[in-house]
Amino acid sequence: MEVDKPTTVMCTIVGMDHSNFCYRVCSICERTLPDDPSSLCKFCNFNSNSDNASVSVSSSSKRLFRLLISIATDTKVKVVICFDRAARVLFGCSADEFVDFAKVHPFAAMTASKVLQGEMFKMTLNKPKNGNAQHLRVATVFPLSSVFRPVIETLREKYGVRVGS
Ligand SMILES: [Zn+2]
Repeated sequence: MEVDKPTTVMCTIVGMDHSNFCYRVCSICERTLPDDPSSLCKFCNFNSNSDNASVSVSSSSKRLFRLLISIATDTKVKVVICFDRAARVLFGCSADEFVDFAKVHPFAAMTASKVLQGEMFKMTLNKPKNGNAQHLRVATVFPLSSVFRPVIETLREKYGVRVGS
């Protein structure tokens, strides 16, 4: 079986899908949950009904980033998918923190997309393990600009939010 080596590219972000950038998972087992905010994890919720019901966070969920971004390399433009670990490098916060921020500032996601546009990165891209997945996955992302700041910092400044209060 041939193993696809990750490719490293220098690229510029040209866009991000700001309408759909995260998904819900169970905060215990991290299984993906439906978008419906009232849905609970079947597995952990089931377990909490057993004798060992000491886990009171059984119904909690959290969000993880799943970003679709368009990048331009020197040869082509393509859409890649960026999961939580890599996306946090771009955003500088968790998906939950960003969603909370976006509740107060409804255009935050759109602005985030604009903030990222034109920024240059070195990215390592992996072939998806699932053969049906259509996008390369961003394994690592490293900003090439020495003055790059994570999205959330730029947004807080833009919207005049004080940090650490
Ligand atoms: Zn669970």
